[in-house]
Amino acid sequence: MAPEIVLKDATTKLTEYEATGGYGALAKARAMTPAEVTEELITSELRGRGGAFFPAGRKWSFVPSKEQLPKPHYLVVNADESEPGSFKDNEILSRVPHRFIEGCLITAHAIDCDKVFVYIRGEYSGPYEILVGALEELKDRPEIRGNVTIVVHRGAGAYICGEETALLESLEGKRGQPRSKPPFPAISGLYASPTVVNNVETITTVPPVIAMGGAEYAKLGVPNTRGTRVVSISGNVVNGGNYEIEAGTSLREIIYDLGGGIAGGRELKAVVPGGSSTVILTKDEIDVGYDFDSLGQLRTAMGSAGIVVLDDRCCIVQLGIRFSEFYEHESCGKCTPCREGTRWLTAILRKLDDGRATQGDLDLLLDVCDRINGKCLCPLGDSDAIIVASYVAKFRDEFQAHIDQGGCPLDGHSSLDHVLAPVQMHAHSPAAHGPEVRA
Ligand code: SF4
Repeated sequence: MAPEIVLKDATTKLTEYEATGGYGALAKARAMTPAEVTEELITSELRGRGGAFFPAGRKWSFVPSKEQLPKPHYLVVNADESEPGSFKDNEILSRVPHRFIEGCLITAHAIDCDKVFVYIRGEYSGPYEILVGALEELKDRPEIRGNVTIVVHRGAGAYICGEETALLESLEGKRGQPRSKPPFPAISGLYASPTVVNNVETITTVPPVIAMGGAEYAKLGVPNTRGTRVVSISGNVVNGGNYEIEAGTSLREIIYDLGGGIAGGRELKAVVPGGSSTVILTKDEIDVGYDFDSLGQLRTAMGSAGIVVLDDRCCIVQLGIRFSEFYEHESCGKCTPCREGTRWLTAILRKLDDGRATQGDLDLLLDVCDRINGKCLCPLGDSDAIIVASYVAKFRDEFQAHIDQGGCPLDGHSSLDHVLAPVQMHAHSPAAHGPEVRA
């Protein structure tokens, strides 16, 4: 069921935040040199929380100094949370907007920039209002703001603008399509200037890293995945919602202890562990730590930490249709394997679902996955190919049953209609950019 985000005990007001020590980490960071702040992040081993999992401190360290490259430096925060199954950034911005702003200001100090752009998903009206309200409160607090201008830019509903270079294109007022890399944004990003692009959760984790010290933060979690992670749990669980866990907590604990187990006392069938783009896990694969290495051994990932729990009534072919339709719809069309391949995947899956598929169609499905995977400019096309191939690999009997029985063996009783309610699908808008607010 769609979890409702309840903002009880949120700390949205500046006075409330300061009363809990808020903006103390910023004062500590400003007493350090930018290089020392970056070094603290490197020591913490904090990795990006948007999905790519790149070490945050190292990303900052790639930005050349202004002596080396005399251009403006920019921080761009990716708040375009759009991955089906993930809704954590929504709650982070709504619950602790000043902690997020403090993270922006510390990062701005570390990379020597005075202009921050927050690219927020257009549909996130609530978090947008809260964030703008928090920035308004800082208008009379120059000692906190310093010389930094924070611009909040609303997206217009294109999933691909969550890809960092498509986001930069969109922010520049162009069609939101990925750029070829290199050059990487750290050298040539927004307006061809050195740019750090970080996700909301990553930036919001910066203040506690500075407050605790990098070495202390690195004591949390497990090797290669330090600290905590906010996970979004949805689907057939009793207590859907966002939960902050220590990295390495087992997926079973997350589903059964935090999520309250499978709704209606039903059996678990499968889990999408990190948003729609991650390889599916069966019910026998959940005794695994929620961390980079452990999930990697199962050839899947934390991704954007959207955990979708599926009960025994879920049709995996229909799951494939839902996600594949999404990727087909959100493909920016720049490369042929993605633009055409995602359409083919959806069409073959639909044939399986309505009983028109032959044995050759199952082979064709995997062949199309192979023709997409590794042949696209950005991860969108690969994601569709990888997940569909994983559904066939792990639930081949179910795909075969669709052919043998001439349609879905669940005969219209799949739980899927109830499972993906929190999955927020986008209306495609290639020229994705909207109004801005400055503070
Ligand atoms: Fe666009 Fe798809 Fe190519 Fe990415 S993989 S650039 S979304 S066509």
